[in-house]
Amino acid sequence: MERDEKSGRNLQGKRLLVVGGVAGGASCAARARRLSEDLEIIIFERGPYVSFANCGLPYYVGDVITEEKDLLVATPQLFRNRFNIEVRLQNEVRMIDTDNNEIEIRNIASGELYRERYDYLVLAPGASPIKPPLTGIDLPGLHTLRTIPDSRQIKDWIVERDVKEAVIVGGGFIGLEMAENLSKRGISITLIEMANQVMPSFDPEMVVPLQDHLEANGVNLCLGDAVAAFTQQEDGKTIMVSTKSGRTFSADMVLLAIGVRPEISLAKQAGIELGGLGGIRVDEHMRTSHTNIYAVGDAVEVRDFVTGQWTLIPLAGPANRQGRIAADGICGRDSAFRGIQATAVCRVFNMTMASTGVSEKMLMRIDADRWANDYDKVYLHPGHHVRYYPGAKPMTIKLIFSKHDGKIMGAQAVGEEGVDKRIDVLAMAIQKGATVYDLEEAELCYAPQFGAAKDPVNIAGMIASNALRGDAAVAHWESIDPSSSFVLDVREPAEYMAGYYEGALNIPLGKLRDKMKELPKNKEIIAYCAVGQRSYYASRALQLHGFKARNLSGGMRTYLSQRRVQKPDSHL
Ligand SMILES: Cc1cc2nc3c(=O)[nH]c(=O)nc-3n(C[C@H](O)[C@H](O)[C@H](O)COP(=O)(O)OP(=O)(O)OC[C@H]3O[C@@H](n4cnc5c(N)ncnc54)[C@H](O)[C@@H]3O)c2cc1C
Repeated sequence: MERDEKSGRNLQGKRLLVVGGVAGGASCAARARRLSEDLEIIIFERGPYVSFANCGLPYYVGDVITEEKDLLVATPQLFRNRFNIEVRLQNEVRMIDTDNNEIEIRNIASGELYRERYDYLVLAPGASPIKPPLTGIDLPGLHTLRTIPDSRQIKDWIVERDVKEAVIVGGGFIGLEMAENLSKRGISITLIEMANQVMPSFDPEMVVPLQDHLEANGVNLCLGDAVAAFTQQEDGKTIMVSTKSGRTFSADMVLLAIGVRPEISLAKQAGIELGGLGGIRVDEHMRTSHTNIYAVGDAVEVRDFVTGQWTLIPLAGPANRQGRIAADGICGRDSAFRGIQATAVCRVFNMTMASTGVSEKMLMRIDADRWANDYDKVYLHPGHHVRYYPGAKPMTIKLIFSKHDGKIMGAQAVGEEGVDKRIDVLAMAIQKGATVYDLEEAELCYAPQFGAAKDPVNIAGMIASNALRGDAAVAHWESIDPSSSFVLDVREPAEYMAGYYEGALNIPLGKLRDKMKELPKNKEIIAYCAVGQRSYYASRALQLHGFKARNLSGGMRTYLSQRRVQKPDSHL
């Protein structure tokens, strides 16, 4: 019997059933067809749409995407005509009978229960929004956003109830995107977040500019507080949202965006192994504990690419890649998932935040003792392109790397422009096991509108490499020891007068060589400036004149953010 081209498996007469028809499921089915014309493929989707763009939903609510049909990436007809794949919408898979290799399905419209046999089964059921068991959690004005019908319901609610005030619970990606989109519809927003910062996956000092930006755009931030209850007011319209600290906010609607939980009910019922974090356990080929059952997407636990720890990261890119890998495995190819880097980006009111790999906070949470001696970090605040070309916007980049071999471990960036591009480059560098020395050498595209001859990515590599080589050691604000260090401010007097680090001596860079004799040789000199560039020149000159000197990474700009994290009311 003929084998499928390049695949090691004869799939004649075999059936692939896929549960869930969006990111992971749809990409798995389509890839399987591209690898085999022999497989019979059926997708079961309990919702009314296959392959829709959940990532576009906030923008549909905000009327940026005006046509619902634009959210439909594919239709059952397209799957039929283009791929010879059958899609059964509004058909919910209720049970897996692993003894007989069958699933039980309920046709939601007719209520009919029926069974289908499988040779290979792929679970791509996604995740469901978390709804904590709080008083009033089922009130009609509380919404979650996962599907097109959810977004339609929110849009209808806004119009029918003439929504003027909304509370968003959760300051992650979806909460923030919705804050922008609801604001655009003229709704005033209070955002409640249990952590002391929005975007809890980022390091806190990195989100300070974003928090300022949200407030500047009228979003009322309530950080470090958790919702406790929702109460319907007597007018039948307003919901009172109470927090654990005793604050109350009135709202015409509430959006719950506090995260998602993997959909594991089918896997659990079938006795498929689950991981410690509550997701489906899979190997690198996306195979579950049952060898002919695969699982992909938000429902599975995967290894973190940098730390090797199991993790749950609900993102569309990994779900799509995992779908392809499962299809490869089913068709006899040997692809493997490399692990997840959690590369993500979010744009809110013209400000972009992006990250890849580990954050400092995550390393400390996993094992502070182990990682504290292993990593270092640098901050930089370059323009997104050369300053002489009109329209340069500043950005902040934080690079985390191994102290031992310079391997890049993580990066975060925030700014109005060019952030995604730098994080994408760094994401690829992490995936290829690159070091900060590789970043020094990276050849990236440049013309004045796009970057600089020394791109921010090169500069990040140069600062980190200089630190590792001992050419320009870096210091960090949080670890300055005043008893053994002498803090030197090399900015101009006017900058110094506008705010300085307590106890710092001001000698502008241009006067440093004349005044070096005033500086102590028995203490380490920690030099700082606005963003770390002039103080780099200063610390090099000091070193060459026999002083022990370090450069404060990120300068005053990073200090101000860090101070705001420690003292939220401080605007030094
Ligand atoms: C509002 C929003 C914005 C997002 N924005 C981004 C973004 O900008 N970038 C990004 O990377 N990620 C984003 N995501 C996350 C991304 O959409 C998910 O990570 C991705 O869709 C996961 O794919 P999946 O196939 O695992 O699950 P899903 O895409 O959720 O698909 C699972 C499907 O399975 C169906 N299903 C479940 N159980 C059954 C059953 N028993 N029988 C039949 N069908 C079933 C569900 O109805 C669902 O349609 C966003 C998510 C949301 C909700």
